[in-house]
Amino acid sequence: MTDLALWFDPSKCLINGEWVAPIKGGTLPLYDPSNGAEIGSIARGTAEDIDAAVAAAEAARSGPWGRMSAAERGRILMRLGRMVEERVDDLTRIEAIDVGKPLKQARADAVALARYCEFYGGAADKLLGETIPYLDGYTVYTLREPHGVTGHIVPWNYPMQIIGRSVGAALATGNTCVLKPAEDACLTALAFADMAKAAGLPDGVLNVVPGLGAEAGAALTAHPGVHHISFTGSVGTGIMVQEAAAKNVVPVTLELGGKSPQVVFGDADLERALPFLVNAGIQNAGQTCSASSRILVHRSVHDEVLERMAARYGALQVGPAMADLDVGPLISAKQQGLVSGFLGMAGDLETAAQGVLRDAPNGGYYVRPTLLAGVKPHHPLAQKEIFGPVQVVIPFDDEDEAVAIANGTDYGLVASVWTQDGGRQMRLARAICAGQVFLNNYGAGGGVELPFGGRGKSGHGREKGFEAMYGFTTLKTVAAWHG
Ligand code: NDP
Repeated sequence: MTDLALWFDPSKCLINGEWVAPIKGGTLPLYDPSNGAEIGSIARGTAEDIDAAVAAAEAARSGPWGRMSAAERGRILMRLGRMVEERVDDLTRIEAIDVGKPLKQARADAVALARYCEFYGGAADKLLGETIPYLDGYTVYTLREPHGVTGHIVPWNYPMQIIGRSVGAALATGNTCVLKPAEDACLTALAFADMAKAAGLPDGVLNVVPGLGAEAGAALTAHPGVHHISFTGSVGTGIMVQEAAAKNVVPVTLELGGKSPQVVFGDADLERALPFLVNAGIQNAGQTCSASSRILVHRSVHDEVLERMAARYGALQVGPAMADLDVGPLISAKQQGLVSGFLGMAGDLETAAQGVLRDAPNGGYYVRPTLLAGVKPHHPLAQKEIFGPVQVVIPFDDEDEAVAIANGTDYGLVASVWTQDGGRQMRLARAICAGQVFLNNYGAGGGVELPFGGRGKSGHGREKGFEAMYGFTTLKTVAAWHG
């Protein structure tokens, strides 16, 4: 593990403030996506470790954490945010190696993690209840209370950001947490939990159990001691998580990705739009739930947009994370296979342009960014989430058709509209079915302050922003009769 220079042992879980070896599971190999080399091992937590973590989280509810003021919880989170800031370089290096992210993209995630801690630290003591006018002789008010033990299943694409937004909001509102990071990317989760301990988070409030989804993940989602589950990942696994939670009648937040469109009208400021059109598709090698994988372009500017996007694609450089190019490897050989399989479906579609590999080691999980043109809205590549650096360009003739195509998938996570016509901006912002609509910009993965979540197969519930504070609390109504 010398390359990683870790200050903790990733072959252990962090439960009740102690680093402990998995009770039964042993370890799993850890791979570097940039070259495919095995570089260490991580804990393979199983149901037994999840039991211990949930018990620790339950016990921590009645410890100092349960009696702590919201302001003090917030102070701990803000202290943690400052510690994250101080270690941004370490977190950047670890994430770049573990996930294959170019350094500047890994750094952006570490900075966002610090910002989530700051945001939710500041928000902790600003969550208010209401008084409700009722019958004569009554005073009625509401309390926002933590669910209790919250389970967090975090994927491999943005570990730091997703931990920040879900664990940050859960802690700010007084929950205790069990976090199951992805087997392909658990290092920054462990680093974060270790820093949280140093920041003064009481033992047992944040527990981390790395391991396989089908083992540790499934055990966490089915655990009767868990009171809320936050899941980010695929639709198929999200359905399993919701089914497991339903058996315990436990609420879930599901964030399941998308097929997010950017809609470009003839009057768009193309100079401004072009970088957003491409970056929103290739950021993190397209492995972004809110990636924009469909570019809908009015026929009057279609050829110009395609040509200018193609020029950008041709200049994209792909290589190892530490070379800090435009695009890194995919997370795993499995993901490389999935994306290559999708590209194999392109058939007679026009490949408008591809990025170039630069010093990409054999064995790394690389896929060349690919821009496809002449794509019909119902083609599988315009319908299915590819989760790789692939965008399709689709022409449209008028506003109604643009809306129909934009809404014509199973998903509804993010969209953007590029036009200078204010009325059209307002109409499309309402007509498009998505959790976020950007006008003349696009925020793939960004926006700590902005409520985020989907409709349709993109999931339900909202994380990020203040809205997440409602999701991580349950409302109690108190009706006092005093005559
Ligand atoms: P999964 O949905 O299977 O994985 C997401 C998380 O769920 C990981 O932490 C995983 O753990 C865990 N998990 C897996 N199985 C279970 C289970 N039965 N119960 C509870 N948790 C479980 O996605 P994949 O990693 O397999 O990626 C496949 C596809 O999913 C991608 O191509 C992409 O389309 C989509 N995806 C979407 C993401 C998003 O941000 N919306 C993020 C990641 C993937 P582990 O990895 O250890 O198995």
